[in-house]
Amino acid sequence: CGIVGIVGTAPVAGRLVDALKRLEYRGYDSAGVATIHDGVMDRRRAEGKLFNLEKRLDSEPLPGTVGIAHTRWATHGIPNETNAHPHFVEGVAVVHNGIIENFSELRDELTEEGSVFQTQTDTEVVAHLMAKYLREGLEPRDAMLKMVNRVTGAYALAVMLKAHPGTIMAARSGPPLAVGYGRGEMFLGSDAIALSPFTNEISYLVDGDCAVLTCDGVSVLDFAGKPVKRARQISQATA
Ligand code: GLU
Repeated sequence: CGIVGIVGTAPVAGRLVDALKRLEYRGYDSAGVATIHDGVMDRRRAEGKLFNLEKRLDSEPLPGTVGIAHTRWATHGIPNETNAHPHFVEGVAVVHNGIIENFSELRDELTEEGSVFQTQTDTEVVAHLMAKYLREGLEPRDAMLKMVNRVTGAYALAVMLKAHPGTIMAARSGPPLAVGYGRGEMFLGSDAIALSPFTNEISYLVDGDCAVLTCDGVSVLDFAGKPVKRARQISQATA
């Protein structure tokens, strides 16, 4: 399973799938990619091998210079297209590796408040929580911080917002995540190998980090919102 994201200046869909291929060694049962283009957030997902996702993208291309992508190893909900990430709720897109331990109480609470769940995954609560906090008027960064303080378990998360097409947000609590520095582009990935076609200049996030990526760079915060610094290093991973 794996996560990739690009806030870029050139089309991202093909590059995201290429980066996912470099994460195939981790195993997966389905895959998906989402982009934002001209105010439209859209996605393609497919069961099985990345080849199936590539075929889908060939017949229905996804334009856009910002996007997130995912290979899924199902833990909650069967591996079908509906349960494949990215999950979409009201202009929020989410990809997740790991397990949200308290998903069932959060789902009950959100359902009570009117959220309608579309999948059997634990992950979908993250998208609904983000949508709720944004609806309540929180800034994206603050919604992200509030969300990570509500969910428990192991997660690497990437979040993209239709209303903020220049930004990808990420959080780590368990599974690894790295940020990559490009020229006028920023990258997110489960490891340096995924990012090596784009850049070898990376920072690893540590558990309890939230990251906000734009074309210009990244800011990293702890879950209380305090800025932290993560060293830039040159990765030895080769493209
Ligand atoms: N628990 C999530 C799901 O079943 C994410 C699995 C993964 O790590 O890919 O959809």
